[in-house]
Amino acid sequence: MHQRLKTIADDLGISESLLLAKNLCVYQEATELEVVSTDNQGRSYQLTPVAAAAWRKLSACAVLDDVELTLVSAFRSIDRQADIIRRKLAADISIDDILTVLAPPGYSEHHTGCAVDISTPGTAPATLAFEQTSAFAWLNAHAQHFGFYLSFPQDNTYGYQYEPWHWCFHPSSPTAD
Ligand SMILES: [Zn+2]
Repeated sequence: MHQRLKTIADDLGISESLLLAKNLCVYQEATELEVVSTDNQGRSYQLTPVAAAAWRKLSACAVLDDVELTLVSAFRSIDRQADIIRRKLAADISIDDILTVLAPPGYSEHHTGCAVDISTPGTAPATLAFEQTSAFAWLNAHAQHFGFYLSFPQDNTYGYQYEPWHWCFHPSSPTAD
């Protein structure tokens, strides 16, 4: 696993000192996944079975409060993360800039199958505008009851931009049944 990540990091020009400085964790890639939703363009989103069950409960409860939550990202493999970074490098974006919005391959919560990027109708996906929505207010009040937590709040220690749309399911967290 770590040799594979090192090979990918070398290939992308991500140095070991940069990884250490960011204080990031290596996460295991999910092996068991299920489709949790499909959008109107036919794109499907996958999570681990436990995270998928928690997400279904959470989004169903949101609907009861007239809050519509849509997934714009869920499971994303380590290889796919590397491809996205490669494409940005090809577009002449520096690796330092890229890593303020994307985790190095192996260090993203998205390949655990437990992280979701959430949007709501009328808001551009993965933008700070999400913070002003009733969907975000609802998540702040209720998400933790379903085991979902905001991963990158303002001034987070990982050097990522504030991501009000990115939430992660933590299996050991108390869940409401
Ligand atoms: Zn995310």
